[in-house]
Amino acid sequence: MKNKSMKKSRYSKLSLSTRAIHGSHLHPFKGPVTMPIYQTSTYRFENSNDAIRYAQGDPDVLVYTRYHNPSVSEVEDRIAIMEGEAAAALFSSGMAAISTSILSVCGEGSEIVSTPALYGGTYRFFRDTLPHYGINVKYVDPASLEDMAYLITPRTRVVYFETPTNPTLGLVDISSLVKQTRRAEKEFGKRVIIMIDNTFATILNQKPFNFGVDCILESTTKYLGGHADLMGGVVIGTKKFISGAKELMKHLGGCADPFAAFLLDRSLKTFELRVSKQNENAMTLARALEKHPRISRVIYPGLRSHPQHALARKQMRAFGGMVTIEVKGGVKAAVKVCDSLRVAVNAMSLGGVETLVSIPVYSSHVNMNRSELAAHGVTPGMIRISVGVEGIADLIGDFRQALGRI
Ligand code: PLP
Repeated sequence: MKNKSMKKSRYSKLSLSTRAIHGSHLHPFKGPVTMPIYQTSTYRFENSNDAIRYAQGDPDVLVYTRYHNPSVSEVEDRIAIMEGEAAAALFSSGMAAISTSILSVCGEGSEIVSTPALYGGTYRFFRDTLPHYGINVKYVDPASLEDMAYLITPRTRVVYFETPTNPTLGLVDISSLVKQTRRAEKEFGKRVIIMIDNTFATILNQKPFNFGVDCILESTTKYLGGHADLMGGVVIGTKKFISGAKELMKHLGGCADPFAAFLLDRSLKTFELRVSKQNENAMTLARALEKHPRISRVIYPGLRSHPQHALARKQMRAFGGMVTIEVKGGVKAAVKVCDSLRVAVNAMSLGGVETLVSIPVYSSHVNMNRSELAAHGVTPGMIRISVGVEGIADLIGDFRQALGRI
């Protein structure tokens, strides 16, 4: 707690970009301007005293990169400073961050309460893997968060959610979810950890800690990485939570690679620039496509037509780079559009500088049956667009020509 307030007071007045570029190095020192990569799996001891100190629990002795690596630690510290939290842990992927964080606080008999519209990989982890470990996930409709009073029990360890959701860009009311959780946990006298996957909104557009969320997860493969060239994940939270997640990471093995950490360090420096441009492009593209005769729906939290636009204005600083359109003519028409684009790239993933499109029923939601798709609000004619930083006129022209082919 002391560390958290120290970080807040020292860095909170600096802009996000300043924190992302300089981290804690706001003092004169001699050395490289860019971060060196400690591309090593192991560390040389000066003599066996180092091994003895390590065996006695000295955390400053470097031993093995799965346990600690200076390049990885530097980026963890930088992201914690960007979020104004005490600590962060980097992982080999977003899924490693999510699964390790969940398993670090849940065991046999634990329960999780989650909103249902989740990244497909997380949903399948909840549906197909957690039951093998005796962990049960219950779902709450974001439109009826008061039901959490019945769903949270003394066994509940985690409340988990995403907002905006993938790919339907629905919102979960963060302050109401936190209020309902705290009310329920008071009754049982047990702390429930509230975790959000903030990958879609990012640190720039949404500040869940300000609403009382305990722990933020992000796939750094997406906006934080931003160049479609690295895999990674991060969890940010209190020192106690992060040290538990790191301990389990040593056993499960999902540690970040030093080179991926280096690429991420490079990406953080332009994070605010990139995502600000993506916000702007997404808003302009969404507006340009809204009245298109071949499109039945444009979903973007920044549009007045979005059913939760008022909530978006309340809890988001800007509305992100993800736009979902529904084309008339179902999945056949969606395929035709994706295959006709020349600037936007037909590829899965999101958050990079290049605009990507994907069809959710063939990508993120491929393993869901009809009723699961309906519950997630996913329709066959949907195309998810991760808007990049290209010239906006080029993007609008590209989508118009591709839509003209159906
Ligand atoms: N969370 C969200 C919202 C995602 O979109 C993804 C991947 O697409 C993940 C988590 C998983 O991240 P990774 O692919 O880095 O494991």
